Parts: sequence; C-alpha cells; structure tokens
Amino acid sequence: MVVDDEEKANILNTFFSTVFTVENEMLGEIPRNNENPILRVTNLTQEEVRNRLNKIKIDKSPGPDGIHPRVLRELTTMPTHRSIHWFRKGLRLHDNPALLAAMRDCDELHPIFILDPWFPKNMRVSVNRWRFLIESLRDLDENLKRINSRLFVVRGKPAEVFPQLFKKWKVTRLTFEVDTEPYSRQRDAEVEKLAAEHNVEVIQKVSNTLYDADRVIAENNGKPPLTYVRLQTVLSSIGAPKRPCPAPTDENMRDCRTPWKSSYEEIYGIPTLEELGQDPSKLGPHLYPGGESEALQRLDLHMRRTVWVCNFKKPDTEPNSLTPSTTVLSPYVKFGCLSARVFYWRLVEIYRGRKHSSPPVSLHGQLLWREFYYTAGAGIPNFDKMVGNSACVQVDWDENKEYLEAWRECQLMCPGCLVMTVSDLPQARTGFPFIDAIMTQLRTEGWIHHLARHAVACFLTRGDLWISWEEGQKVFEELLLDADWSLNAGNWLWLSASAFFHRFFRVYSPVAFGKKTDKNGDYIKKYLPILRKFPAEYIYEPWKSPRSVQERASCIIGKDYPKPIVEHETVSKRNIQRMKAAYARRSGKDGPQSPSKKKGVKRTASVAEFFKKK
Ligand SMILES: Cc1cc2nc3c(=O)[nH]c(=O)nc-3n(C[C@H](O)[C@H](O)[C@H](O)COP(=O)(O)OP(=O)(O)OC[C@H]3O[C@@H](n4cnc5c(N)ncnc54)[C@H](O)[C@@H]3O)c2cc1C
Repeated sequence: MVVDDEEKANILNTFFSTVFTVENEMLGEIPRNNENPILRVTNLTQEEVRNRLNKIKIDKSPGPDGIHPRVLRELTTMPTHRSIHWFRKGLRLHDNPALLAAMRDCDELHPIFILDPWFPKNMRVSVNRWRFLIESLRDLDENLKRINSRLFVVRGKPAEVFPQLFKKWKVTRLTFEVDTEPYSRQRDAEVEKLAAEHNVEVIQKVSNTLYDADRVIAENNGKPPLTYVRLQTVLSSIGAPKRPCPAPTDENMRDCRTPWKSSYEEIYGIPTLEELGQDPSKLGPHLYPGGESEALQRLDLHMRRTVWVCNFKKPDTEPNSLTPSTTVLSPYVKFGCLSARVFYWRLVEIYRGRKHSSPPVSLHGQLLWREFYYTAGAGIPNFDKMVGNSACVQVDWDENKEYLEAWRECQLMCPGCLVMTVSDLPQARTGFPFIDAIMTQLRTEGWIHHLARHAVACFLTRGDLWISWEEGQKVFEELLLDADWSLNAGNWLWLSASAFFHRFFRVYSPVAFGKKTDKNGDYIKKYLPILRKFPAEYIYEPWKSPRSVQERASCIIGKDYPKPIVEHETVSKRNIQRMKAAYARRSGKDGPQSPSKKKGVKRTASVAEFFKKK
C-alpha cells in the first residue's frame, strides 16, 4: 500500500494523540488491533514498532502538535524492509552499491553468501583458490561485525535456498551485484522469478566492472567492441566510470539489525577446507591471503609507489622476476575484494598533474583490458568455446593427451602424488625449463605473470603443441587464484590467435623469451631445483649440454629431467602453416575444392591433406 507523506503524518498524529503520547515516553501500549494504522502503514509487527520506538531518545519537549518532531520524522521514514544482500563476487563492503541499497529503509538485514554446488560440479577449483575464498569470507564477516552485522554462509542451490529464506526471514527485498557470466545470468533470472513469486523486490547494481557491459554493447550498436581501440571510442562517448561509493558504517546500520544467534555459527558459519572436501596438505605457500582488508592494504602499498605507477608499462615488466613485477591485485579484483572502480580512481588521483603512461600499457590500460574481455564475454555467445563462437577462428587442434599432461603437470600421471605435499609434486615435464618453471609456479602459487601466461599459452596452442586453447583455459581455471571466466576465455582466445589478435606468425620461443629478462635462469632454478646446478649457458636448453656438464649438475637429461617433447623450430613453423590454413578457411580463400567445405569431411582430415599437398 502506498501512502504519501502527508497521509502518513496524519495517521501518526492520530495514533500519537490517542494512544501514544510523548509524556509517557513512548512506552504506552500499542493497540493489538490489526487496524492499527502504524502497523498497516509500515508493515511491521507490533514488537518491531515497539523496538524501533524504544531506540529513539526523547527529551520532554514535544513539537507544536504534541508529537516530538524527531519521532515523527523517524516514524514517517520508518524502515519497512527486510533485506537480503547476496554476496557472490563483490566480497567487500567498499564500493558496494547493492549492499547500501539493501540497508536503505531496512529493518532487518541478512548478508549472505551461497555455497552453490554448481561451481565445484562444473569447474575445477584448486585448494589454493578455495583457501583464498574462505579467507575472503572470513574477512567479510569480520568487516560486517564491525558495523553490527554478520555474514550468513548458506549451503545449497540458490533456486532452492531462496524460497526458504524468503519465508523464514520474511524478506521484502533482495539485492546483489550484476554478473554477466552465462551461468550467473541464468541463475539470477531464476532467482528474480522466485523473488517476484514471493513479493520480494530485487535490486541489482553494476559494480564488478568500471562500466555497465550491457550499456557499452548497446552504445556499440548492440555488439561488443572487438578491438581495444573501438572499446576506447565507445567508452569515451559514455564518459568516465562512475565514482565508487563509500563503505557502509554502523551509521548505515543504525535502524537496522542483523539477527544472529550463536547457534548460527554451525548452520551459517564460514566453511573449512575440510568441509569443502579439500586437503590442506596440498596447499601452496601462503603468498596472497584473501580478503578485502588485505586487498586495500596491497592497493595502498602499490599506490604509494607514485613513480612506478606513473611509469608502468606492461610490456616492460618481467615474466620471470623472483618477486612479481606487476601488482598481483588480480585475485582481489576477481573475487571483488577490491573494486575495479576504486583501483581506477586511485590511479586518476596519482596521475593528476604528473606525466604518466597511457592505455593499453598503463595500469589504467590493464583495467580497460578487463573491461574489454568482460564486455566481449557478456555479448558473444559461447565465448569460452571455439564452436559456436562467432569471434573465434575455427582451428583443427590436435587431441594429444600426452602433450597436454606434460604441459599441465598432470597429477594423474603420478598415482602417489595425491598423498604428497606440493613440493613433492612432479614437476612439469615438457622438457623446456622456462615453460615447466612457469607451470610449476602456477600450480604451487596460483599466480603467474601476464607474459608468463603468454609464453605457456602460446606453447600449448599455436606455438608448439597444437592443443586447443579450451584445454589450457580449463587448466588455468583450476589453478589460477584470479581465474575469471571472461578474462580467462578472452585472453586464451587472444593468445591462440583465435580472436582479437591475428598475428599468428609471431610465436614466442620457449628458450629465447625467458632469457631476455633472466639470463642466469634464476627463476628456473627457483621452481625447478633439479636444474639448479646447470650453468647459465645451458639452463634454458639443458639437453644441449655435454654429458660431463649434466653429471656435474647431478641431472641427466632424459633421466632426471625430460628431453624436450617437441622440436620448437620445426613444429612452430609447421603450426604457422596450419594457422594460415585455418585463417584461409575462415575467409573462404581455400577455394571450391577445400575439404573443409565439403560435407562430411572432418577438419582434422582437411589439415592432414593440406600438409600432404605441401
Ligand atoms: C592465457 C591467459 C589467461 C588469463 N586468465 C586470466 C584470468 O583468469 N583472470 C585474470 O584476472 N586475468 C587473466 N589473465 C590476464 C592477466 O594475465 C592477469 O590479469 C594479470 O597477469 C594479473 O596480474 P596483476 O594483477 O599483477 O596485473 P596488473 O598488470 O597489475 O594489472 C592490474 C589489473 O588489471 C587487470 N588486467 C591486467 N591484465 C589484464 C588482461 N590481459 N586482461 C584482463 N585484465 C587484465 C587485472 O584485474 C589486474 O589485476 C590471463 C592472461 C592470459 C595470457
């Protein structure tokens, strides 16, 4: 029922003058009668009205009509909502407009996180990333406690959980952050429908990205921009990203409470690794603890390095430095422990009045790459697949389990390793130390430098092993702390020259690339200690060392460390030709006789033929 302010004031006047006077200090009996206008207007129970009135401190000087003005104000803006704020990504209090919306005119707030079984069922998540999530939830709960609230971790499928919660907590409003990933869109649409059936208002706010991806697509004639420059043009017509909103304080919770009982710890507590079926003994070093507090501290630390920030050029950073040469804020941005808008606007402050680098290589530029892939992911159907993805070149990748396992350092190859600690795990074994060191860092630590990702992604796909980027995407999805659906798919599309980037003839050498920034091979020695005694001359190509050198290094190639699984010079040249053929097929330049165009002929056959002809 909608009641305007004047009508509300009239109702309250009548109510106060008859039942509830300031003289008895708000403690008079509220009629039990359902017809009580206050109860009708506010939708609250009698007890809730009483609690609310008791909170208001009254002096003995009522307003002109006998009602204390503050009481009138408070009651005419009486909170009428019981809100759930649903944390998914966005695991933070700062720059969380949906959380603020949940608190507005709210009497009872339930901040929740749902442990949705869809995720472990449909994607592999490393124990390191589970730890990051648990820490982020713990930190979120601590930060909520500071403003007199708590986090409820609910177990179950959202579509099953919500109807129960709506009823149990008498919810009138549900808020959450917009998420454009396919599963999220489908899940959220289902939850919205359930909310409507339960008369629950739904409020969604954009805060995961700098811009509303759907708006960017709309501004670009309904299509996601397919180049960075095009994205920049569209964004310049929209203007600067919105400024972040402040974190709520206990003032936002003044009229609102989160009902929490000690018994809830058991039902709604933060899960442990064991509950999630994870083995803590498999954890890697604790280099990047999760959580908003950690994220903001790390952002502060980086932003204090003004000169570094202003000079930041991504291509000049090193893939194989012993400590990260970029911010490693990606896991925090991925889980939403850090708002991209906060990151963006902090950079604006630093750049102001100073000479600084620009997109695409600057730190602002990095955040725009994120926007680029998010927008593409939001607008291109089957973005994480080759088949059915309109932006993706159709390539006849090989299936080669042996190569894939050598690259991904597959545990299945080593039955005993399931009971081993991380340091005992078998090292990657492509036989290229630079590639194997990167994959070992990925598996143990969960983060690798962007150019290191370039090196191993190119090696797996168009560079050397000719394995589909979708396979690489799955491995990254499991092992990266920052694994993010749109960014992972988009970057794999790029690196495999399947979309966005088309200079497939530029291939990274698994030997020369790493040498440029680490001649000594210290990075390799750190992650592949078996090679630590090799002289710098051979550290990138130990198979070329004389037997005597291998003996001195206590590492015989082919026995203690594998020989290279492919000959880079040969396969990379062949692969360029295969890529050329795929591009020709895409543009229809392979002529009427092209086997790929004939019905019933598989692509693999077409390429085999292509090479026979050569
Ligand atoms: C094959 C491949 C897969 C990738 N998968 C992911 C992924 O799943 N999740 C992920 O966050 N990044 C992914 N990236 C992008 C990039 O490598 C990481 O974002 C970056 O290395 C993170 O380190 P940083 O925080 O130090 O980055 P910085 O250089 O400090 O950049 C700051 C922030 O900008 C964003 N950013 C930087 N580079 C990119 C980029 N190329 N694309 C999109 N956003 C970027 C990140 O949020 C990052 O935290 C992938 C790159 C490749 C080549």
